[in-house]
Amino acid sequence: MSNTTKYVFVTGGVTSSLGKGIIAASLAKLLQAQGYRTTIQKLDPYINVDPGTLNPYEHGECYVTDDGAETDLDLGHYERFLNVPTSQSNNVTTGRIYQSVIEKERRGEFLGKTVQVIPHITDEIKERIQILGKSGDYDIVITEIGGTVGDIESLPYIEAVRQLRWDLGRDNAIVVHLTLIPFLSAAGELKTKPTQHSVKTLMESGVQADVLVCRTEHELPEDLKRKLALFCNVQEEAVIQSIDASTIYDVPNLMQEQGLDKVVLERLKLPVSEPDLTQWNNFLKRHKNPKGEVNIGLIGKYVELQDSYKSILEAFIHAGAENEVTVNVHSIHSEFLTPNNVKNKLKGLDGILVAPGFGERGIEGKIMAIRYVRENGIPFLGICLGMQMAVIEFARNVLQYKDANSTEMNKDTPYPVIDLMESQKSITNMGGTMRLGAWECTLKPGSKVANLYGSETIKERHRHRYEFNNSYRKEFEAKGLIPTGLNEDTDLVEIVELNNHPWFVGVQYHPEYKSTVANPHPLFVAFVKASLEYQKNKKGVTMAQNK
Ligand code: GLN
Repeated sequence: MSNTTKYVFVTGGVTSSLGKGIIAASLAKLLQAQGYRTTIQKLDPYINVDPGTLNPYEHGECYVTDDGAETDLDLGHYERFLNVPTSQSNNVTTGRIYQSVIEKERRGEFLGKTVQVIPHITDEIKERIQILGKSGDYDIVITEIGGTVGDIESLPYIEAVRQLRWDLGRDNAIVVHLTLIPFLSAAGELKTKPTQHSVKTLMESGVQADVLVCRTEHELPEDLKRKLALFCNVQEEAVIQSIDASTIYDVPNLMQEQGLDKVVLERLKLPVSEPDLTQWNNFLKRHKNPKGEVNIGLIGKYVELQDSYKSILEAFIHAGAENEVTVNVHSIHSEFLTPNNVKNKLKGLDGILVAPGFGERGIEGKIMAIRYVRENGIPFLGICLGMQMAVIEFARNVLQYKDANSTEMNKDTPYPVIDLMESQKSITNMGGTMRLGAWECTLKPGSKVANLYGSETIKERHRHRYEFNNSYRKEFEAKGLIPTGLNEDTDLVEIVELNNHPWFVGVQYHPEYKSTVANPHPLFVAFVKASLEYQKNKKGVTMAQNK
């Protein structure tokens, strides 16, 4: 294998939401499946230092890495496709770039020079791009540049790419440009002009695209590809069609059929071979040929937004394939659950997941739903805030602690069963100060979680400030809500399980971040299995009643 790391830049033109992240992840998958050690990086042109302070309405889910970086949700796709962990270095924002340059300036590192976008900001961008390459861990680094060419915010990034192509040589750094070929139904035609313009915009910054990936709702005829190649200054085989797919997991195969991996490797002067997608295709086969279906309710307050619970939805796809069923996820808005409608709204569901979240809005609905599933033996998985709500529900309705709450929601609650850790109390800065990243957890022998994980210790990723309040631990245990996962160093409760219930598990961490195509998360797999079991028993009961 080559001893210089090669770089592939993925830029976008015409509109946002073309799926750059999926194209980057699919290309990476194809390269990885040919034996190249590949990673993906996302550069985000906004001024926030990281997306941790953004609410899901702005930017979808905040994804968390092992090293505790709060990152763009595209990193979730990278991990799910590649099954290789990402880190802080895989996501860089303009805010972080400027923060670092300004800190250097304050330390006097620029020796009295005027600090400018070029070269100081562009140098910092170039350095960040090359960190992964210089680690020696990767043959190919794919860097996805957020936003669209022509945006004011994107300019320094495109300039950094232009410079890097000179520094590294054209065989070591190529540009894949993703654009849209719209179909005008009134004219009955596919239009190439927006693509021509976006390639031209890129060229105005001195960057010639090597490969065009064209998003389209209709097949691109050969003559249209020829025209694009001619006008956009690329080889004909470098015009790749990216047609709408029924699942994102089809995209690697679609890209391979179009020869994206081949054209990229040829441009990089690297050997091309047949990618080994056996495991990937086995997953696809199971995903597309389900033997049944299961209905799971996802209770949260951002349920109208597809991207807010991205990793949870993907984890259900992986767990569904593993169980050879389709998981139908039914979004239920916690704010609209009332004591009168809860039974009706949850009717027919085989399992309930209560989602992570922040703040008071919608929590009473979550608590009501948890009471219902606890009392009716319906499988339950609570994630982070979902786990905290399960603790509060149990405190209020079983321990009879009236008005028990988390101090996040009610500072003056008489029963703060969820509370801030001592070390969090003095924190005033909101960015990057939660309990973040991978923490070790020891599982209680014989518990459900110990069995389903099949090991004594696990590492899972966290993103929260509040914790199970250990001063109430004995009372909970005595009545059957058992801490079955603990962090040994801090004695923090990471998992609770309910005795005398078919499947009731709350986890303080986010299992969804670690579910990948190659490694469906055991907790999701077991939850789906328990929900299937519940469905089977329910059918049995109905049939018996009908006899
Ligand atoms: N708001 C809760 C906390 O900060 C839960 C966070 C979450 O669900 N990610 O502890």
